[in-house]
Amino acid sequence: MDKARRLIIAGNWKSNKTNAEAIALVTEIKRDLHAVTEVDVVVCPAFTALAETSKLIVESNLRLGAQNLSETGYGAFTGEIAPGMLRELSVRYVILGHSERRQFQKESDALVAKKAANAHANSLIPIVCVGETLAEREAGITEQVVEGQLRGSLAGLTPEQVETTVLAYEPVWAIGTGKTASSQQAQDVHAFIRKVLVSLHGEAVARRVRIQYGGSVKGSNARELLGQPDIDGALVGGASLEAKSFVEIVKNSI
Ligand code: PEP
Repeated sequence: MDKARRLIIAGNWKSNKTNAEAIALVTEIKRDLHAVTEVDVVVCPAFTALAETSKLIVESNLRLGAQNLSETGYGAFTGEIAPGMLRELSVRYVILGHSERRQFQKESDALVAKKAANAHANSLIPIVCVGETLAEREAGITEQVVEGQLRGSLAGLTPEQVETTVLAYEPVWAIGTGKTASSQQAQDVHAFIRKVLVSLHGEAVARRVRIQYGGSVKGSNARELLGQPDIDGALVGGASLEAKSFVEIVKNSI
């Protein structure tokens, strides 16, 4: 696929896979994608599986991501994961502001922005998620919601930090529901996101930011979605839990 930006396909395993299961899945993905160098491929297991999966993907073309990050460093923050703990395991990416964390852990844009700044300060690349609910789409306020989340979640980042941040547009109504946004619906919001980035940091920065689409991406719809000019990758939930379906998505992105 001839794209303006290098595609990035990430698998978000959420709260799935024991350590042993994660090892088995990464082993299969690594075997099946060993020849793929055209796109960035990231796997994001649960924290408990990061150490072992990290060992497995050394010297492979897979990259490791985590599903959250503390807004602080080491210290008396029970249950939190500091950036240094992830860096030690060669984690490169952290998913932040996923709609499930916004919904169930009540994460705000301001908290996401603090976490994103902490990620950048520690050489981790945040994958910042935004997206509207079905009620918001039906009320015709998708752009308003997405713009608010973007401005809030990127607040305080420098233009250089924004440029290397990965964004993920994930309409909440398409996550885990089997309902995918049409490629045109997705492209429209991605183009809008780029317009907001232009207003925040100018054309040059906006042109470089990679924006993933997420929401029931599978092998059969990946090519069309990823063929859109402003869609620069996919954040994949359900279909990343099996090597066959994740590998198919990656292969259909080339
Ligand atoms: C996600 O949760 O990031 C996601 C896109 O999930 P799914 O692919 O299952 O819709």
